[in-house]
Amino acid sequence: MSEKNVIVIGAGFSGISAATSLADQGYQVTVLEKNSTPGGRARSFNTQGFTFDMGPSWYWMPDVFESYFQKFGKSTADYYNLVRLDPSYTVVFGEDDFVDVPASLDELKALFERWEPGSAHQLHRFLEQAAYKYEVGINQLVYKPGRSVTEFMNLRLLLDVLRMDVFQSFHKHIRRYFSHPKIIKLMEFPILFLGALPENTPALYSLMNYADISLGTWYPMGGMYKIIEGMVQLAEEKGVVFKYNQDVQEIQVNQNIATRIVTTTDVFETDVIVASADYHHVEKNLLPAQFQSYSSEYWDTRVMAPSSLIFYLGVNKRLKNLRHHSLFFDEDFGPHANEIYTNPKWPTKPLFYVSAPSVTDDSVAPAGCENLFILIPVAPGLQDTEEVREKYYNLVMDRLEQLTNQEIRGSVLYKRSYAHNDFIHDYNAFKGNAYGLANTLLQTALLKPSLKSKKVKNLYYTGQLTVPGPGVPPSLISGQVVAQEVAKEFKAPVVI
Ligand SMILES: Cc1cc2nc3c(=O)[nH]c(=O)nc-3n(C[C@H](O)[C@H](O)[C@H](O)COP(=O)(O)OP(=O)(O)OC[C@H]3O[C@@H](n4cnc5c(N)ncnc54)[C@H](O)[C@@H]3O)c2cc1C
Repeated sequence: MSEKNVIVIGAGFSGISAATSLADQGYQVTVLEKNSTPGGRARSFNTQGFTFDMGPSWYWMPDVFESYFQKFGKSTADYYNLVRLDPSYTVVFGEDDFVDVPASLDELKALFERWEPGSAHQLHRFLEQAAYKYEVGINQLVYKPGRSVTEFMNLRLLLDVLRMDVFQSFHKHIRRYFSHPKIIKLMEFPILFLGALPENTPALYSLMNYADISLGTWYPMGGMYKIIEGMVQLAEEKGVVFKYNQDVQEIQVNQNIATRIVTTTDVFETDVIVASADYHHVEKNLLPAQFQSYSSEYWDTRVMAPSSLIFYLGVNKRLKNLRHHSLFFDEDFGPHANEIYTNPKWPTKPLFYVSAPSVTDDSVAPAGCENLFILIPVAPGLQDTEEVREKYYNLVMDRLEQLTNQEIRGSVLYKRSYAHNDFIHDYNAFKGNAYGLANTLLQTALLKPSLKSKKVKNLYYTGQLTVPGPGVPPSLISGQVVAQEVAKEFKAPVVI
């Protein structure tokens, strides 16, 4: 058997996805991960009987996960037990003013109708179009490697793209259907996952509303890390070798071919490299200057998705008035958005999000306790100090206690904070970003950092800073797309 050796840098969603897809085609794949466990931004940790997912908590687009496992003859059910959440989530608009967003479309329509007569019909029309965008967007466009306009030179696809409101903003689009401020807040929320403002996000992304409302919010029992465990198990079944505590320091290039990877402890020879660590880090810190595809100015002018200040809390009692997912939209998003995107600074009155997976899942907290994950979206590149974190802890806890009408702080058994410095230390994240590169119009498809190096023939990229973008489902897809590109140029080994 002639085996082509591929090294994947990083064991996050995109890296594991790329490694598994390549191993499935016959390549010999080794994953080098700097941390001691897989998962990247989706790692988890256990302490005092609590299991905390460190990053993603929303399981959206279940079809993308299912098709990933099915591609290898498996199903998500072989690895974890999924439940659909109902309500999908709660939005808190103010004191004694909150709404449970029901899983049922009919119930959601009834809720909309109470707020704005005629809006149930409008929701129907809106979702019809969003379904079409999801179908074309998720089943066709996101699987394009974005390396050449010719990928889109198919009449049917061109027509589809034109019908998909690529050039209109989501902000305008949504206001053509609805006017009630609560409906607009609710419908604009999924756009925040894309890392940019509705004003700067193409209306194409109403496909996210289809994902939210029609496909639903799910949860893998045991936590989001169950997905990573399942993916690693599958990867190992396919022959992928994972090596942890392998912090890559250098990619050695001879002419325009990458030949070796140097870590803090070892040196690895390779035929092909797929880098799933943050693109900026790989380019700027691991490659010699003459082999970098993008300049520092290029990176400084990219619109990064936000970073986050996170608190992981173990609480020694069950809490009332909290759902599995609760969005605290009790402040005006305008000034907060301005402080994330336009005038980056620590926010004055931030919106925040609380996940309490112990509401659904007894296994993530000791009996009678609550597991809380609190997230404040903040601008990347801010100065992150203990004092600032503590200030926001108190600010958020004041509001959380007031809005849910209970004392919490005195019952916190375990507390850990996480922000920019941790993202940089743990993942080499550019400016301490949490979610990679924002999905603005000018950073879509061909306009994203390329998934293939322009200077090094056998170096590819995958993950949330390249196509198709941030989020778990896109990262899963990114790994599959890069594996196809590798196979086109570096023929899969022949098994004799
Ligand atoms: C707080 C938070 C909440 C989120 N919430 C959601 C959500 O609810 N739903 C959703 O769909 N998405 C969510 N996301 C986004 C989602 O988690 C990411 O888009 C996805 O996990 C990114 O995967 P990735 O493989 O591109 O990158 P990563 O997970 O960052 O993987 C890259 C890997 O490379 C490793 N690495 C870096 N440098 C080196 C080096 N020099 N040598 C070796 N290894 C290296 C890192 O340690 C890491 O393991 C969230 C993200 C965060 C941070």
